[in-house]
Amino acid sequence: MSPDSDKLCDNCKFWQPPAGEGVCGGCQLLKGPINPKGYCVSWFTRDA
Ligand code: SF4
Repeated sequence: MSPDSDKLCDNCKFWQPPAGEGVCGGCQLLKGPINPKGYCVSWFTRDA
């Protein structure tokens, strides 16, 4: 879980939605499956 509920991969600028049926998507910065409810220090707002 994200320590900050406003910052989720789901609403991050670098988030890439899942291609298929899976829950996990991708991230432009990190490799591998990313949980949409995750978070990392590189989180950046999509609204900027
Ligand atoms: S892993 Fe970090 S940079 Fe990638 S989508 Fe999630 S919060 Fe954004």
